[in-house]
Amino acid sequence: MALTRLAHQLVREHFSDKPKGLAIDATCGNGHDTEFLAKLGFQNVIGFDVQATAIENTRSRLHAAGCVNVNLVQRGHEHLKDHVSNELSCAMFNFGYLPNADKSITTMSKTSVMALSSALSLLTPQGLICLICYPGHEEGALETKAIQNWLRELPQDKSASQREWQVKQYLSNNPKPEAPILYTIIQK
Ligand code: SAH
Repeated sequence: MALTRLAHQLVREHFSDKPKGLAIDATCGNGHDTEFLAKLGFQNVIGFDVQATAIENTRSRLHAAGCVNVNLVQRGHEHLKDHVSNELSCAMFNFGYLPNADKSITTMSKTSVMALSSALSLLTPQGLICLICYPGHEEGALETKAIQNWLRELPQDKSASQREWQVKQYLSNNPKPEAPILYTIIQK
């Protein structure tokens, strides 16, 4: 199963018996995750992307699907806290670049880790973050390393109000070292 599909399955299962408040799609891209979150029944969804094309593609997808509970923000997810002040139930990150578009517009280690830290600090005790890393391209390899280091240090992360986290890793069926990796983070 593709990791993007697995991510949907994990989110769906996790929230089958939990409140679905605010959800974030931190990397709209073509809007698949944004639509998924909106349809799953989150009260509100906020989608971020730096690219106008991605925001437009997501907007048309949501329009076609009749989703009205979504706000789209054309800004980097590192500015998450400027746009989100409430507790967060769910945050989805699908890193990398938009397929079939400008590959130089890609997520970057520093801002990705900033955004993950912000999302984590806003996460409700029953919340879930899922993220997919793509070590198969140059920037993605650096980013994956930075994120893995960040994940490793999580339980001691005082900025997250001394909460403890459970991180799970899911590898794709394709065993290559450059294959994408899915992580989920929940509170212990
Ligand atoms: N790698 C995935 C698609 C990822 S799309 C796949 O193969 O399916 C990643 C999206 O993140 C792109 O649309 C890109 O514009 C966006 N992006 C890049 N930097 C960002 C940032 N700082 N904040 C929010 N989105 C960003």
